[in-house]
This record gives sequence, structure tokens and C-alpha cells, in this order.
Amino acid sequence: MRALFTTGIKSNPIDWRDVPAPLIHASTDALVKPIAVAACDLDRSIVNGHSPFPGEFMLGHEFTAEIIDLGEEVVGLSPGDTVIVSFQPSCGICTRCGQGYSSVCRTVPNGSMYGIGKTGGDWSGAITDLVRVPWASFNLLKIPKGIDPVSIASGSDNLADGLRGVDGPLQRRPGASVLITGSGSIPLYAVVCARHLGAESITLASKDPFALAVGERLGVQCLPVDVWPKHFRSHDITIDCTNDVQGLAAVIASTAPYGECTSSSIFFGESIPVPMFNMNMKGIHFHTGRVNSASQLTRILDLVGNGLDPELIQPAHHLMSDAIDALLSEPFSRKVILTHA
Ligand SMILES: [Zn+2]
Ligand SMILES: [Zn+2]
Repeated sequence: MRALFTTGIKSNPIDWRDVPAPLIHASTDALVKPIAVAACDLDRSIVNGHSPFPGEFMLGHEFTAEIIDLGEEVVGLSPGDTVIVSFQPSCGICTRCGQGYSSVCRTVPNGSMYGIGKTGGDWSGAITDLVRVPWASFNLLKIPKGIDPVSIASGSDNLADGLRGVDGPLQRRPGASVLITGSGSIPLYAVVCARHLGAESITLASKDPFALAVGERLGVQCLPVDVWPKHFRSHDITIDCTNDVQGLAAVIASTAPYGECTSSSIFFGESIPVPMFNMNMKGIHFHTGRVNSASQLTRILDLVGNGLDPELIQPAHHLMSDAIDALLSEPFSRKVILTHA
């Protein structure tokens, strides 16, 4: 079968290669056929050469799929089921998975995920025809009828990431004001989730014209940014997707006393300055970390089943066979969703 690979070559960063189809290894495995694969904001950075993941590897990790085959110990699923797939293989039985922290599962290597090669534990990628999913009962969740599997291709990752910055905080402070910053699909999903969850006011600050145009259409206050300022107006809930030291500092400085700030930025390998005095004086709660993908699948499907519409971020739909062009040419903040013909 064909799979999309990174090449490590700047002029031709991704290409199709032939790989053997995966097989069931363990009785808890599933084989799934991707229905829709969304390009994660991280994938766009990988393709643009802005990530530290070396070498050649199969790309793609946000996806929904159809179950093709199951190991004999998998319970609650059947061949033919349409499922959302946790982008982080995790065991579901260790203490951390049991506490809802599936992103730091004890059974798999640190940072376990599909689509980044050895760095993520050498699982495969999803821009292909067939993927082996370990611990399938935990990492797959059946999509109810009435939910379009294409619309929630990003449900296990960027959508869940946008959600986590506003979900708990808005439950603790209903109707609070929300500041969302940065580029890519995560801040746009955060806008859609904050709207759905009843935020009193939503402000989107971004350097990206596409993100701002979507924000305008969604009716939220949009602030175009050239250089991240010292701070914005004070907000109860703040989300940093700037991937920028000055951006993070601005977001922290814009968080109200005892407000909650969540950073979805990834500062690869860097030690960066954090304004601890400002945080200390205001008693800010700061959240970071990877999304707990498998643990959040139920919440995502519940919200989408109750009217949260991920398509409001205006993704670009392309055929899987056009993946190279789509990933290289769409604006960074425009979500790319790939489907088979
Ligand atoms: Zn991702
Ligand atoms: Zn685990």
C-alpha cells in the first residue's frame, strides 16, 4: 500500500512510498482504514521544515477510520464500525490512563503518537490505507450515527487541544471572558468551543490573516498582530497558541487575577523565560501538556453530538491522493482534511 512519508529533503519534503500493509500483532489490536485524516498544526510545521523530527517517517495522526479487522480480545467494537482514533496509542490499563492522563501512559514510550517516526515510538502514520491500532478497545471510540466522521477527523487532537483550554475553565467560571492567541487550527477550534460553551466574550489575536478572517465570520473580536504586545486587555481565560516567547509573555500578562492560562505552544527543547513574578502576584493557574487524547474522546463526541460544529473553522477538503499539494499550498491556519475518493 501507499503511504505519505517525510523525506528530509527541503525541496521535496513529502512523498508517497510503498510499504507493506500492517497485520494484527496482539489480540488487543485493530486494523483500521482511515476515512478522513486531518493535518495537525504540527504536520504543517513538519512539512514546512519547522520541527525537530529527523529522518524519513510516515506522516499523519489525526483521523477517523473504519474497522477492518480485530484481535480476539477487543471488546465493544465490530468490523465495519466507524471510529475516532486516539492519536496517541496508550494502554488504558495503567494508573495514569486510569486517572485520565493517557498522554503520559506508563506502558508506551514518552511522547507516544502516530506520524512522527521513532520520536513518537515508531508507530505508523495515517495518510495511507491501513493502520494498526494497539489496545483498540481504549484507543478507538465508535462514532454515533448522525455525526459526520469527516467533520471530526481532528477530534482526537487539535480539536481536543482547542477544547481543553476552555472546557474546564468555563465550567469553573461560566460565562467568563476568553482571549485566544496564535495561528493554526487549534486557536480556531478554541474559538468554536468557547462560543459553544457560552463564553461571555471571545477575543482572537493572531498574525495570520486566514485565522482572523474565520474569527470575523464567527463574530468574535479580532485583533491583528504584527509584533506581540506587552499585554492585551485582561481576560479570565487565556489560550496561548503563539509558539513564541513574546506571545506567551503577552498572554500571561493578559490573564486576570486567579484566571486560567493554557499554553498549547510547543517550545521544542528550549528553556524559555516565564514571567513568574507577574503570575505569582496574580495567582494565575497555568496549564500545559499534551492533550490526553484517548481520555477525551467521549467528551468530544458528546459535544459534537450536542451541536458543536468543527466545520465552522472552514477546513479545506482534499482527496488523499492530492495530499502533497494540499499540505504544501493551503494557508497555515486553514485545516486540511484528506479523504479517499
Ligand atoms: Zn497533532
Ligand atoms: Zn496506560
